[in-house]
Amino acid sequence: MRQKTPITIVTGFLGSGKTTLIRHILSAAQDRRIALIINEFGALGIDGALVQSAPDAPAQSDIVELANGCLCCAVDEDFVPSLQALLARDPAPEHIVVETSGLALPKPLIRALGWPDLAPRLTIDGVIAVVDGPALRDGRFDTASGSNPEHPDSSLASLFDDQTGSADLIILNKADLLSEGDQARLTDDLRNRCRAGTQILAATQSALPIEVLLGQSHTPSEPEPHHPHDHHHHHDHGGFDSFTLTRAEITDPALFQERLARVIVAHDLLRVKGFARVTGKPMRLTIQAVGPRIEARYDAPIRPDQHGTELVIIGRAGLDRDAIVTALEATC
Ligand SMILES: [Zn+2]
Repeated sequence: MRQKTPITIVTGFLGSGKTTLIRHILSAAQDRRIALIINEFGALGIDGALVQSAPDAPAQSDIVELANGCLCCAVDEDFVPSLQALLARDPAPEHIVVETSGLALPKPLIRALGWPDLAPRLTIDGVIAVVDGPALRDGRFDTASGSNPEHPDSSLASLFDDQTGSADLIILNKADLLSEGDQARLTDDLRNRCRAGTQILAATQSALPIEVLLGQSHTPSEPEPHHPHDHHHHHDHGGFDSFTLTRAEITDPALFQERLARVIVAHDLLRVKGFARVTGKPMRLTIQAVGPRIEARYDAPIRPDQHGTELVIIGRAGLDRDAIVTALEATC
């Protein structure tokens, strides 16, 4: 069975720091072959040039620049064919990152990933919205009364809400220019503009751990390094915390997913990823969650050494592991 390629969609207004985020991802994920789709339509073409000048930039052939129009308005003509071309490469990219233009509507792009041509080959790793913190503090999005020049029937203010409402992870960027009080107030403001479970992280230059920004690179053939006598071992990534949870096989995957969704909201989990053994199934269930987005699918035969369910959980420092473990290890 063919593995699905994870795809990350990055949205955000011009000047929010999307290109800096992409450069950070490229340098932090050098172990992965990342392909980029960049939509920098308009006069400048500056985003593509900036990314290509990064020291760890992918080969030229793994960067697709769509400079002739807005990506969300050219789903059929540009977006889907570009993805298909990247997926047809040999070897295929391990991860695809899409940088949308500041004016693009995220929903048409997310919908296209569910089309029959693409859905069997791609999995959404996450939708990340980058927000210019000082601009939000100054009310520039709500007072943006103008219409969206690319989409005259929608306003800039509603575009901002589309971006935050579609996001699984929101980066409140340029946090060094915000007071702590501003950060707390803006985080509350953003929470009202997004789905329950969406994670909002303050950052400067989008400098967040790669484990938070992208899902793990471990593929089924390269299992997560395992410490059998210390299965709750943890890493501290400066403000973040992770551990591996193991549990017995699952008899009711739908119920387990509901529980997982509740735990994600209750404990502000950033990411959950792993494999579950489901009673009576010869295939293992791969589970990945980022904020409110939970994907689960049977994608490979169970390995002989896989006895139960193993999930790597990433959250903020100070996770209440006992409560999480109790909730997720309960029989179901
Ligand atoms: Zn568009």
